[in-house]
Amino acid sequence: MDTLLDAQLNWQTYTELRRDLHRHPELGFEEFRTSDLVATRLQALGYEVVRGIAGTGVVASLKLGGSRRSIGLRADMDALPIQEATDVDWASRNEGVMHACGHDGHTAILLAAAELIARRRQFDGTVHLIFQPAEEMGGAGGARRMMEEGLFEQFPCDAVFAMHNMPGWPVGDFMFRDGAMMASSDRVVITLHGKGGHAAIPQRTVDPTIVAASLIMALQTITSRNLDPLDSAVVSVGMLQAGATYNVIPDTAHLELSVRAFSPSVRDELEKRIRHLCQTQAESFGARAEVVYERGYPMLINTTAETKDARLVAQQLFGAERVKDNIAPLMGSEDFAYMLQERPGCYLLIGNGCIGEHNVSTGLTHCMVHNPGYDFNDTCIAPAARFWAALVEHRLTPT
Ligand SMILES: [Zn+2]
Ligand SMILES: [Zn+2]
Repeated sequence: MDTLLDAQLNWQTYTELRRDLHRHPELGFEEFRTSDLVATRLQALGYEVVRGIAGTGVVASLKLGGSRRSIGLRADMDALPIQEATDVDWASRNEGVMHACGHDGHTAILLAAAELIARRRQFDGTVHLIFQPAEEMGGAGGARRMMEEGLFEQFPCDAVFAMHNMPGWPVGDFMFRDGAMMASSDRVVITLHGKGGHAAIPQRTVDPTIVAASLIMALQTITSRNLDPLDSAVVSVGMLQAGATYNVIPDTAHLELSVRAFSPSVRDELEKRIRHLCQTQAESFGARAEVVYERGYPMLINTTAETKDARLVAQQLFGAERVKDNIAPLMGSEDFAYMLQERPGCYLLIGNGCIGEHNVSTGLTHCMVHNPGYDFNDTCIAPAARFWAALVEHRLTPT
């Protein structure tokens, strides 16, 4: 494995490639240019390339030897609807679209790994490189659609792995967590039906704004009073909309909630309590609640054996001081969770450092994804690509 640490590629090519992707970001399911670029490079490296899975998705496979073992490595390719505010040479040229989550980096890393793996040819089995569209799209994202279109039937994977860049951690540090690592993410749309009328004659109305106010306060009691204090959950009211002017009591009020959990039982409890509070709070004021509870990305749960394996590979390659174990779980969510529901595997993080400092005058925080000032750190490409290649060679060691 030490040789992998010395394995040389023309890394500058991959920095340029990453910056090219950054310059030309594309939204979910519209990654046409990115997908073309990925497929062309992989074909040139000798991979068998299948395109058009979930629209712009690409899977590239390389088989060596007679072993039936297999591994899947996944990178996401989509950008976000954000107007870029950096002044780098490679800033987005697409108005209102930006690689603010570093998926340009993930794509470049997996392409670099593809070259390392194909050049070294030190494995026995099949490697599937999964380039996924539309990670940022919520419940209708690319991972689930690739699976619905037969991803794992067509490309059987014993285990699957994915990596995300993580600002605020030292560049190139690897971070792992066994078990639940990221939260489930649900959206709740609530309509409160009252009875509108003149603001001066409230006694002849049913004011849905009052119901909304009471409901919002009641919702705060779910995490504080209904859940075990040692369980984690979030119930946030992200949207409240009622009425259009000062002297009219509206007919309806609308709320949207973001609900996060770390275990299926907590998730079920949250849904049950939210529905119950909506109905009973509305009823107590003579109103009626309509609740649409949309389950989004599930909890992301890493399996123990695969997490241990991946951690071991990182430790052997870079030394224990560059590897953090048992990091705190994240309240964010990620659609690789769907793949982990069907296959064992591990989602890991690589430190992206902090490019620049928080700029008070512009309000830009370079150190946070989904920020208009964010940029992937190209120095991550080499260690991350070496790690992927090492993981393949470890999981598919020639016998
Ligand atoms: Zn993101
Ligand atoms: Zn992301």
